[in-house]
Amino acid sequence: MDAYAIAVDLGGTHVRAAVVAPDGRVVHAVRDRTRAEEGPDAVVSRLIRLARTALAECERENVVGVGVAAPGPVDPDRGVVMYPPNLPGWGEVPLARLLADALGMPVWLGNDANLAALGEHRFGAGRDVHHMIYITISTGVGGGIIVNRRLLTGALGMAAEIGHMPLIPEGPLCSCGHRGHLEALASGPSLAREARAAIERGWPTCLAELDRPPSAEDVVAAARSGDRVALELLARAGAHLGRAMALLVHLFNPERFVVGGGVSNAGDLILEPARRAARRHVLPAYRHTFDVVPAGLGDNAGVVGAAALVFEAAEAL
Ligand SMILES: [Zn+2]
Repeated sequence: MDAYAIAVDLGGTHVRAAVVAPDGRVVHAVRDRTRAEEGPDAVVSRLIRLARTALAECERENVVGVGVAAPGPVDPDRGVVMYPPNLPGWGEVPLARLLADALGMPVWLGNDANLAALGEHRFGAGRDVHHMIYITISTGVGGGIIVNRRLLTGALGMAAEIGHMPLIPEGPLCSCGHRGHLEALASGPSLAREARAAIERGWPTCLAELDRPPSAEDVVAAARSGDRVALELLARAGAHLGRAMALLVHLFNPERFVVGGGVSNAGDLILEPARRAARRHVLPAYRHTFDVVPAGLGDNAGVVGAAALVFEAAEAL
């Protein structure tokens, strides 16, 4: 008999629900805009509706349970989302219980970046290693740490908030209100901010010819076409990322960094400066102990990881 997990991802501008097989295959997927501004009740109803749509694609007795990838911070033991900065108006929301009551199924919940790490480790670019660190770079910077094939969750399930690693005293302002965090130096919004600053300084770049402020996507596109200022902006962001990696190398001795999220679409234009900086800043003995590769699952990492959480939790019961 085929077993499936229903996986729900509340991670970004869209909410997604998917039917996922135990080998990580996404059998069926549906999505809708998050519309976070409508508040928790509306978003939770939307999530339940999408999960029901996915559930209707399978025989109910073949479904092991439901996994939820939710923006952090979360309390995975209680299945509660805790004041997520990316979902304005949300306090403590017992998302796992709300979904379990509505769907009549067991529900497991985790931090979306942590679960994307689990997905990449079990079924993506980290399949063949035991120690891996996943970093996602998009609107924010998040991550997940796999130690000896297990997801490191920390005492309260809040481990691996990599984006808020302080790197530069009095550096640029982070979304969290502090200064000089990795997220303020190597995220989509930080690339856009640096591009605007470069234009204001009169640096010669095709980004100045846009009829709107440049976005991170614009910077990546300009760099691909050989724009030297855009290449420099990605190289600087990559160097910050590499310094953060050096710190993580010394702490966790990973074999691999897997880098995902929208900004990672720049590929080696950001990953190569990151590799160089990481190797430059580690002790010599570590220099050739890790590699840095792009993520393998794209937008599916969250749902695939949420499904892995379900299969592994159900097996442990
Ligand atoms: Zn921060």
